[in-house]
Order: sequence, then C-alpha cells, then structure tokens
Amino acid sequence: MRALLAWVLVALSTVASAEPRLLVNGREVAGNTSSLIAGTSYAPGPALAQALGADLVGDSGRDVVTLQAGGRVLQLGLVDPGAQPPAAAVWLDGRPLAGGPAVRHEGEVFLPVKVVAEALGASVTYLAPEDTVLVVQPRARLTAMQLREAGGERLELTLSAPVRYSTFFNEPVGTLHIYLERTDIETRVPPVEGVGLTAASATAKAGAVEVRVQVRPGGAYHVYAVPDGRGFKLNVSFDARADGPVAAKLLVILDPGHGGSDPGIVSGGLGSEASLALAFAERLAIALEARGMRVLLTRRSDAPVSVPERSRVGATADLFVSLHAADLDLGDFRAYYLGDAGNVASLETAVRENAAAAARDAGAQAGTDALRRELLLGLVPDLDVGRRVAEGLAGRLFAIGGYRAETLASAPLQVLGGAAGRGVLFEFSPADLASDGLADRFAEAVDQLVRGGVIGKAP
Ligand SMILES: [Zn+2]
Repeated sequence: MRALLAWVLVALSTVASAEPRLLVNGREVAGNTSSLIAGTSYAPGPALAQALGADLVGDSGRDVVTLQAGGRVLQLGLVDPGAQPPAAAVWLDGRPLAGGPAVRHEGEVFLPVKVVAEALGASVTYLAPEDTVLVVQPRARLTAMQLREAGGERLELTLSAPVRYSTFFNEPVGTLHIYLERTDIETRVPPVEGVGLTAASATAKAGAVEVRVQVRPGGAYHVYAVPDGRGFKLNVSFDARADGPVAAKLLVILDPGHGGSDPGIVSGGLGSEASLALAFAERLAIALEARGMRVLLTRRSDAPVSVPERSRVGATADLFVSLHAADLDLGDFRAYYLGDAGNVASLETAVRENAAAAARDAGAQAGTDALRRELLLGLVPDLDVGRRVAEGLAGRLFAIGGYRAETLASAPLQVLGGAAGRGVLFEFSPADLASDGLADRFAEAVDQLVRGGVIGKAP
C-alpha cells in the first residue's frame, strides 16, 4: 500500500512539473514555466526578449525591467515569487497596462509571456492538445519612405509592426545602413533625395530590409523610433537647415494652474501648487524657447486668472499645456486630454481642476456638466489630436526620463475647452515639479513630437 501511494505521488508530481512548450515565431524558447504564478506562462527574460526581437534592460535599483522594440518601451515591475504584486505592474510607453509583474527566479528574470508578447504586437495562443504556447509576431512591412521638412530634414520610414532594427555607419563612404529584421517591402517604395542626405533606397535582403542612406559629407544624423498605430515610424533626422524649422513658428501656451486666492494643493516644504506650477512653467518656457518655439504663459504672477480666460487664451495655441501638482509618487504623472470622462477618477479630476472657476463645488459641477454636453454633442473639434498628443508626450516622457503615466485619460476639463484637441493637462508630483530635470525633459518630449509631426501648426 505504501509503495502504491509513493508511486501515485511521484506520478502526480511528474504531471505538475510538466511545463508547456513555448514556441516564438516557430522557435522553441526553453525554460517556460507556469509554476511561478499558477496558470500563467513565464519565460526566462533574456531568451524571450531575444526571440521577440526586443532589447532587455534590467534596473536593479528600481526593481523594474525594461524592454524596447520598434519604438515601444515596455516596463514591468520585478518581484520575488510569492510576493504581493504591485497594483500597477506593467507600463507600455509610460501608460499602465493590465498584467502581472516580472518575477525573480533562481537568479534570473522571468517575464509573463502573454503580457510581453501582446504588448510587442504578437498574438498568443495556447494549444491544449500539444500543451504548447504559440507566440507569433507579424512580419513588418515597410509601407513608406518619405522626406519630411518639418523641424529640419528628416527621413521617415513607416513600419507596420514593431521589429528590431540596427544601424551601421560606413564612415569612409558616408553611408548609413539601417537593417530592419523580419520586414518586407510593400509594393515599391521609391528612393528619395534630399539636402542632408543625397539619397535613400530600400532593398529586401534575406527576409529583412536594408535601407541605405547616403549622408552629405560632414552631415550629422540621429535615428529614433516613434510608435505609430500598431507599428512605428523610424526617423533619421539630419542637421536643421537655415530655412527655418517648423518649431520656430509653433506657439506653445503654458497654463500654470491655480493662483490668487486659489493655491491648489499645498505640499509641505515645497509650497503651493500655484507657486510650483508657475516656477515650473517659467523653466519649461525657457527650455522650449531654446528649442525654437514661441511660448506664452496664461499667468506670470500670483494674480488670479479665471478658467474661462485661460481657456480663451488657449484657443490661439498650437499646443496648450495646463500644469498642475497632485499627490503622486515621484516619477508618476497623470495626463489628461479633452473629452468626456472615461472613468470616475478622471471626472473627479475634472471637477477638482474646474473648481477654480467657481470656487464652489456645485458651480464647478455645473460647468463640468455643460462642457460634457458639448462634448457629447460633438461640438468640440480635433478631439483625437488631444489623445495623440497626450499619448505621445506620455510615451516620450517615459522614454526620456522614466516618468510613468499613473493615468492617461480624457476628461471634461474647462481649461482645455479653447485649445480643444490641442490642449493637454498634466499633473506631476510636487517634488518632480520642483526638480531640475523635468522642464528640460518635458521640452525634449514636445520637441520630438514636433519633429515627429504629432504636434503641428493649428489649422
Ligand atoms: Zn491643480
């Protein structure tokens, strides 16, 4: 009897330890396990990242791991097995995503297969009969190669899916080679000619695409990726020419929140939201002007400015940014664009930030309701631009400075009414607003979106 029981236990443990196979793009990734978190496939981080064409970077100091692929930045919290997972554990381009964290196991980082693969554009299927997790990434197509003049000369490659790319500059002959893995060329992508580059052409090579760019002698270039729908745009920017980048003509209006008898939130040691936002807006204005943009502030002192007045001023902006402090962890921010409230929290934010107009909650609620009606009736134009700008800024802030969007949502914010889709409202932690680095990083994020064509002249 005892022998039989022992046999049964051995058999059971054998079943329990049988792990599903993991196939990524047809190749097996070893070490897949569903025992770290029951029912969830976890794979060794370096092997999974490699198979998905992503670069994996650990950050031991912050207990996060970062994957980069095709212009996307995916970040996961890192926990020990059995630890309580954090409320938010996954961020894509700085925006929170549903899913569990990465797990430390036997000295290695294990990543949740489904969350990571889907975030990087792959589809995930479990084949029960074969006990196999199947991950398939679409091959990318190079659909366009264009020369853009906005913000200096820029070669823009449009890719339909995130893929790994690498560059090599052959200095003696001045040729920049860009290799796009797992990529095909859609129909014919004609060569282009420009000033900072003499010519660029794309050719298919062994399942990949090679783009050759002939750079003018002495010309400098910079390669960067920006997410674009399901794919991304790979940009090669060249020296700005003397004939005036678009950035020089853009008007950015900064709106330091609150002021006068309305201090906003008050942070011990760092002063009021009104004073923090004003000081930050002044530093941000300098950083934006250094990048060639024109900047106006809705207030330059503690004198009160009404919300309708701020909104009215915002109507002339190519980009309107309302700046606020909120009770947030260092490095976290909330970004809002104009629209109806997607959830209760963003409606609460709208009522709070609208409250300056009326000083009475009932009045603020009435103003919020009136704006919500306009939004629902479709009377506010360009709303989709606001979402793209807010998402773009959130993604850039993450890529440049590691700032994370605790919230990215639409809200019926009266102050954005004038600028409509060209307006965004950001809330940062008081410590970030007071810090040295944020203004310059925010300005860099704006500049990259201008160069990427996401922010342009108002129609
Ligand atoms: Zn505020």
